[in-house]
Amino acid sequence: MAVTTSQKPEPAVKYEPVIGLEVHVQLQTQSKIFCACSTRFGDPPNSNTCPVCLGLPGALPVLNREAVTMAMKAALALHCAINPRSRFARKNYFYPDLPKGYQISQYDEPLAEHGWLELSGARRKIGATRVHLEEDAGKSLHEGFPDSEEKSYIDLNRAGVPLIEIVSEPDLRSPEEAYDYLTRLKTLMLYLGVSDCNMEEGSLRCDANVSLRPVGSSGLGVKTEVKNLNSFKFLERALAYEIERQTQILESGGQIFQQTRLWDSREQKTFGMRTKEFAHDYRYFPEPDLLPVEISEAWKEEARGSLPELPDARRDRLIAQYHLAAFDADQLTSSRDLADYFEATARDLNQPKLAANWILSELLHLLNEAGREITESPVSPGHLAELIRMIDDRTLSGRMGKDVLAEMFRAGRPASAIIAEQGLRQISDQEHIAKVVHEIVAANPRQAEQYRKGKTATLGWFIGQVMKATGGQANPQAAREALEKELA
Ligand code: ADP
Ligand code: ZN
Ligand code: MG
Repeated sequence: MAVTTSQKPEPAVKYEPVIGLEVHVQLQTQSKIFCACSTRFGDPPNSNTCPVCLGLPGALPVLNREAVTMAMKAALALHCAINPRSRFARKNYFYPDLPKGYQISQYDEPLAEHGWLELSGARRKIGATRVHLEEDAGKSLHEGFPDSEEKSYIDLNRAGVPLIEIVSEPDLRSPEEAYDYLTRLKTLMLYLGVSDCNMEEGSLRCDANVSLRPVGSSGLGVKTEVKNLNSFKFLERALAYEIERQTQILESGGQIFQQTRLWDSREQKTFGMRTKEFAHDYRYFPEPDLLPVEISEAWKEEARGSLPELPDARRDRLIAQYHLAAFDADQLTSSRDLADYFEATARDLNQPKLAANWILSELLHLLNEAGREITESPVSPGHLAELIRMIDDRTLSGRMGKDVLAEMFRAGRPASAIIAEQGLRQISDQEHIAKVVHEIVAANPRQAEQYRKGKTATLGWFIGQVMKATGGQANPQAAREALEKELA
């Protein structure tokens, strides 16, 4: 039985989680994988269909070359070996959104194998077992119709949209690592431009396999597979829940059954859905209507040649070229657009570290608040560079710079225009500051006395008074120097 008292004895065996992810990524081709229908999301239901994707008898599939190229790019970016010959297979099962009664997928001869993806931080490598191509199924709609109580509707626009499935080795050891792996995978796919990875629209889907094993053992325990994880947070929470559930069962002497479970985001729990199906349940057999996929060396090199600079390489280059901290370089390369923005700003400015700071703290903060992407920033890299130069040459204080940036963001205008209009300009003029300082010290003899007796913290209070008297426009360093002189 589970022990629930506070003096729970240390369990004899400590368990560690073992996690492997199966990720489906929708490829951004114009047309479907085996027919010419459009892949556009959001079109009227069943408008993008034809005899092939409706599974009408006699209709024959024709492989979309672009889908293969995109899948190869993803596989190469994951350091996989591309198989010169791969093959499609029929995976047979019944479901209303699968009109043919089988899904065309790859089974024993996948497109690519033996890759890896690095986690962030310690940069541990997680094995990518395989990358294979398959077609998506249609979508069952259970809500939003007047008769949804009795009926479900089916939209087959998605049937036949190309997917890749990326299966990881069971190398992940915590929900946080799983989250990080999926984040890195998504970043990679976005860099490649092979998918929009929109989880809400289903273009990125993830099933999580998890088991426990005694710490120190290298075998694998019985796993459960969790589905219905439609956000990164849910992946992390569902795994944490499942690890806790399995731990309790094992610690109380119970046994885990291989099972498919569903994450219920309302209850924040997983529920058993069905006993796990096995490969033989699907009666896989080679797809007779498609030739094997032969990848020539030339085709593979064409795909390799079209790869952009990938996140890891770009991160390393930013560190080497701009002398950025690893953490900043990681953040800046979290998206290709953000890295582009940074480099455009840094090119315009010979202060790359300042540019990184302003982008990562102030600009991203403003973008987050406004719910905007970096590509929608009302402040261009050139205008941000101009602002940073003004702070650097002390035309503006850092404090004023933040306010000016917020105004630039709001109004979409350059710093120079805002400063001219609001009469903002940092007061560095020594004489002016000395005069203000003299008056403030004279008006506050008690604080001046305290400072002279050794309570140096009072200086901060005096600087505050100077800033107040100048409407925040005094150069804080100049104010400090003038105060030290006056109070000496
Ligand atoms: P299945 O036969 O259930 O499809 P696979 O061997 O194909 O299982 O693996 C599917 C996914 O589950 C992979 O990501 C793999 O890393 C992961 N996996 C396999 N065995 C385990 C295990 N014992 N614990 C955790 N994850 C596992
Ligand atoms: Zn079609
Ligand atoms: Mg499997």
